[in-house]
Amino acid sequence: MWKCLASLLIASLLSCCAVSSFDPATGEVRTTPASSNLIAKGSQQFEEMKRKKKRSNNASYKARVDRVAARLKPVIEIPNARWEFVVFEDDTPNAFALPGGKVGVHSGLFQITKTDAGLAAVLGHEIAHVVLNHSQQRVNQATGLAIATIVLDQVLREQGASDGSRAQAATGVAAVGALGVVLPYSRKAEYQADKLGAIYMARAGYNPEEAVSLWRRFASWRQKQSKGEAPEFLRTHPLDSNRIRALQDFMPVARKEYRGG
Ligand SMILES: [Zn+2]
Repeated sequence: MWKCLASLLIASLLSCCAVSSFDPATGEVRTTPASSNLIAKGSQQFEEMKRKKKRSNNASYKARVDRVAARLKPVIEIPNARWEFVVFEDDTPNAFALPGGKVGVHSGLFQITKTDAGLAAVLGHEIAHVVLNHSQQRVNQATGLAIATIVLDQVLREQGASDGSRAQAATGVAAVGALGVVLPYSRKAEYQADKLGAIYMARAGYNPEEAVSLWRRFASWRQKQSKGEAPEFLRTHPLDSNRIRALQDFMPVARKEYRGG
């Protein structure tokens, strides 16, 4: 019973907070900007990473990121952005963007991106998550889960449940969320970020078809890693053939934005 109750609570708490929309037919984005609180948190987190993580001293990686960033920044609107791009020394293929325009790239990503266009696809995708406010939604999800746990506990207590079953229910809420420590983006969020990312790269003068090749390379790299847990990037950005096909289908729209070549 508590499982149903927990699911209901989570569903009702999450439904309140959808804030962005993206029209895949036109590439039009409607979103409310990230809260100043979230932007401050993003900067704080980035500063902490810069303190804790080693920066890459590979000049070629740095130059590539700077080159791609210089082309992406003018075509992406993030209100109050204070852009910063940093390459960290880390073998796992990963990149992330935080509210406020803070972007981190792992040195291990370059084995998969290969080209500037590949890098633009990943960065465009990451920044699209920020523009579409997906991180705000993930914060809301996490808050929703925490609130659901408290509310459920209250309900069970009022029903006279024992401490043991209340604890079991609380664990259940965490399991229902299946979020663990790293919150994955929803499927819908991934599809949106792929498409908007492809539009950004096209506007920046990179052939958007390269995004399809990039995600294929990522998927085959993943397949080769037969053992062990998926790296963080693929846990937070679940990748499957449907996603790649959806991006492929989107190419006629993205190509219209492409004036480079
Ligand atoms: Zn993603």
